Amino acid sequence: MNLDLKNFNCILCQACCRETGYVRLKKEEPEIIADFLGMDVNDFIETLTRLTRDRQGLALVDQAGGACIFLSQKGCRINPVKPIQCRDFPHKWKFSEFEQICGWAKKAIEKKDHKPKIPRPSSSSK
Ligand code: SF4
Ligand code: SF4
Repeated sequence: MNLDLKNFNCILCQACCRETGYVRLKKEEPEIIADFLGMDVNDFIETLTRLTRDRQGLALVDQAGGACIFLSQKGCRINPVKPIQCRDFPHKWKFSEFEQICGWAKKAIEKKDHKPKIPRPSSSSK
């Protein structure tokens, strides 16, 4: 189903942050995030990032279950400086299972499915 993202309104369910996968960092982001956390940038890189498989850049490490390392009960611990990849989601990119995982998308689909169907006018009506 193609959902219209112009109505997108994040419900902060954090399902996207629990998904396994890379949260890639732009070149300048380790410094920005480390600064926000009050950490030395080298310590940040060593403890909270990993090399991407193509060895072209860094991504955040995961928690044991696959969620992003910065996901907490209260949400994203680095929200004010979260990576551009997170900011761009889902408008500029989204994973293939977006509609099955994103809380907003699931609600939007449910709403569409329950919309009353408008009866077609009968051609033989008098
Ligand atoms: S950095 Fe924040 S917004 Fe991005 S995946 Fe991690 S918890 Fe979610
Ligand atoms: S899964 Fe969708 S609704 Fe939930 S936090 Fe992520 S973008 Fe927002």
